[in-house]
Amino acid sequence: MTNAISEKSSTNKKQNVHDYLKKVYETVVTRDPNETEFHQAVALIFKSLIPVLEKYPTYMEKGILEQIIEPERVITFRVPWVDDEGNTHVNRGFRVQFNSALGPFKGGLRFHPSVNLSIVKFLGLEQIIKNSLTGQPIGGGKGGADFDPKGKSDNEIMRFCRSFMTELAKYIGPNTDIPAGDIGVGAREIGFMFGQYKKMRSSFDAGVLTGKGLEYGGSLARTEATGYGTIYFLEEMLKDKDLSVSGSTVVVSGSGNVSIYAIEKAMELGATVVACSDSDGYIYHANGIDLDVVKEIKEVNNGRISEYIETYPEATYVEGCTSIWEVPCDVALPCATQNELDEDAAGLLVQNGVKAVGEGANMPCNTEAIDVFLDNDVLYGPAKAVNAGGVAVSALEMAQNSMRMSWTFEEVDAQLQEIMKNIYQNCVAASGEFGLPGNLEAGANIAGFRKVADAMIAQGVV
Ligand code: GLU
Repeated sequence: MTNAISEKSSTNKKQNVHDYLKKVYETVVTRDPNETEFHQAVALIFKSLIPVLEKYPTYMEKGILEQIIEPERVITFRVPWVDDEGNTHVNRGFRVQFNSALGPFKGGLRFHPSVNLSIVKFLGLEQIIKNSLTGQPIGGGKGGADFDPKGKSDNEIMRFCRSFMTELAKYIGPNTDIPAGDIGVGAREIGFMFGQYKKMRSSFDAGVLTGKGLEYGGSLARTEATGYGTIYFLEEMLKDKDLSVSGSTVVVSGSGNVSIYAIEKAMELGATVVACSDSDGYIYHANGIDLDVVKEIKEVNNGRISEYIETYPEATYVEGCTSIWEVPCDVALPCATQNELDEDAAGLLVQNGVKAVGEGANMPCNTEAIDVFLDNDVLYGPAKAVNAGGVAVSALEMAQNSMRMSWTFEEVDAQLQEIMKNIYQNCVAASGEFGLPGNLEAGANIAGFRKVADAMIAQGVV
């Protein structure tokens, strides 16, 4: 009898949670029907939270999910700029200040033609959870513009960055909102934006942006942090299954900041990285990629990855970037962009014996691809956890700026390793506690969410 009652109450609980999540999700879709990437990010998080809401209905009663999916503030603005021929262009700028329960808004800026509110909101929502996982006192935000830096001169980039910051400066500050880089925004762009911010404020507020140059307040190891952190997380994941990065064959998509330093650390730990890509195609080099050549092409010359075969004719170049997942490997690291790896690609990777997948980019595997990995017992590390090293070291940059000090590379790198280990352990613990062992996607969402939700409850409805 008692058993029957408790079974019934557990079924009721499940139904309540299901109905609640469905209702909140429908509100999201009805409000902003075109924001498909944002819907995808919300759905993934909600799915992970089912067991949490069953155990702690207070998150439902206090309306935490309704609040967390609505940004505290959304800013869109005009970014006019003049090209080298004297023509005027107008781009659209965004900053989504998503959640400040744990600290000031923190997250990168993306300059890419695909940027729109859906992209910035999905990135911002993920950033809340990611930043929470780092254990650092940072809230979540994201921004950018639908500006295409490809083929622009240094002066055009500078004029764009100054115009962008002229408006953004009104909303940010070292204790308010601290932007950084993302796709299309690196040290050069951060420098131009910092220069403009400083001029407008007449004040050297180093902590207003992270990813700065080392000469004026940047942190050692910030450039490497996202890529290195990805490999530190991967190593933890593999270690639990008595596997190792050493001796493994690795495929890394992309050839930007995340990819380059993931490749560097993977190689340092003894992996053979056989392929990487850009938005036009991928290179395959069976003996292992020569990273110096990739760096020269991408970091120095701003060139295309196809140029690699000029130095190594024995390597192959294949047009089209998504077919990179046809290359057999032990470890796949999607480090390019969102939804770059679908269920067909996931199926191929599984067929070819992939053992682990680590997301260096944000949301690079679509929902179906994630299911393929989880259903086939492939170790799967979700972006929020795997690529959190970048923003974690951004928080260390802020700490150094506040202290007016700089730590050595080794000091920052040691902290990064510790942070990545903790993130991994927290994800494992949360997935185990809520009956989903091995599901790090759920573990990351649960561990990241709970800290933010508890801080929101503590701060009341404001
Ligand atoms: N854009 C990076 C990310 O996706 C870094 C953000 C930051 O350093 O604030 O986490």
